[in-house]
Amino acid sequence: MKTNTFELYIHIPFCIRKCGYCDFLSFPAGKDVQLRYLKALQAEIRETGERLRRTDLRSDRSRSVKERRGEWNPERITSIFIGGGTPSVLTGDQIAAVMAAVRESFLVQSDAEITMEANPGTLDPEKLRRFRAAGINRISIGCQSMHDRELVRMGRIHSHAEFLQSYQWARQAGFDNINVDLIAALPGQTLADWRDTLHTAAALGPEHISAYNLILEEGTPFYEQRDTLDLPDEDTERAMYEETASILAAYGYRQYELSNYAKPGMACRHNQGYWTGIPYLGMGLGAASYWPADAGGWLPDGSVRPAGYSVRPSDESAQPTEDTLRTAEYTVRPAEDSVLLKTGTEPQMVRYNNTSELQQYLAAARTKESRIDSSTIERLSQPDCMAEFMILGLRMTDGISKAEFRRRFDREPDQVYGEIIRKYQNAGLLQCEEDRIFLTGAGQSLANVVMMEFL
Ligand code: SF4
Repeated sequence: MKTNTFELYIHIPFCIRKCGYCDFLSFPAGKDVQLRYLKALQAEIRETGERLRRTDLRSDRSRSVKERRGEWNPERITSIFIGGGTPSVLTGDQIAAVMAAVRESFLVQSDAEITMEANPGTLDPEKLRRFRAAGINRISIGCQSMHDRELVRMGRIHSHAEFLQSYQWARQAGFDNINVDLIAALPGQTLADWRDTLHTAAALGPEHISAYNLILEEGTPFYEQRDTLDLPDEDTERAMYEETASILAAYGYRQYELSNYAKPGMACRHNQGYWTGIPYLGMGLGAASYWPADAGGWLPDGSVRPAGYSVRPSDESAQPTEDTLRTAEYTVRPAEDSVLLKTGTEPQMVRYNNTSELQQYLAAARTKESRIDSSTIERLSQPDCMAEFMILGLRMTDGISKAEFRRRFDREPDQVYGEIIRKYQNAGLLQCEEDRIFLTGAGQSLANVVMMEFL
């Protein structure tokens, strides 16, 4: 799969303190660690931009690299998501420096959606103005609940009043695309509490609301306390989910994904990219990437080979240095170690994560060693990609497009999944309408059951 556009994720792992339910890669850190991290992050962004330029030079194999030098047309970024952690612990200047590194290294589409996650308790009006001036055009505020009692129970660093103030500051700073993050099914939360949180959030009028149910993740304090946590029962939890869409609809929000609601035209483009299989590159500690295996011989840090082929200098005696990579003629040949050349099983995409070890990540900028955690590398065959296309696509209320499936895989969804589709159509959980296949309302409640069938 050749790609011209992709998404960029940038991970800022710092938080003021850890929340009781959180298993994200995040932790408190001093200013000196933050500074070293930002240097390492900018180095990764610049090195990746450079590698992408070299890759693109190699991708047109009809002429030599020497002939094509200077003609590079960089691939474009359609959306950027700065997540965490709490990226807003950084200063406006620090975020501006990260964005400058991105713009120097990649071509960012002029209308790209550029989101940053932010938490109340780390924001002020000047910081928000600086974030906006740095090109951030969408801010996602971690509110989680409108009740102080619940915020305290979660270990959040902010009060309801601080959230409201942050929201107003964001508007005053010029943010006209705001997401408010909420969590349902909290310890001690009643259905009435949840309704109140939804009404309060929607009455503010953010462009987007995310509402996820609490999940007890292993290794978190909440998980350790699972036997004593006063969690809502299953029926209440289901009622919370089912009422969310109808309450938010009354304020003009449309549910476009299992847990996401937006005013018309304000769905999160970045997440839609994830759910429709757009390639992405992740920068920063533990960040995940998803990249076409055959995209012009892309070799992230030399760790992943494309589609059963290796791209090598024609003059094999030349050491692959920065310089020889730039100037050498390349030939493409099957990799001797490849076991992936059987028809239909060649990897279409690769997925991998950067290391989660902070010291290793910080050292990589200096040692030039790989940032990739090789144990995370997954090569996805066409059947893997088709299954992901269905599973992630069905998360969206519009479901999947049959035409897009055909374009990507050269087959009809019915040819591959006809039996499963008919089974769940007959059960009233799936619906097919013209180009779309999507979950019905009943299907959404049983989404996991339906999705598992495509694996
Ligand atoms: S602020 Fe977010 S990332 Fe940080 S600890 Fe809390 S939930 Fe985790």
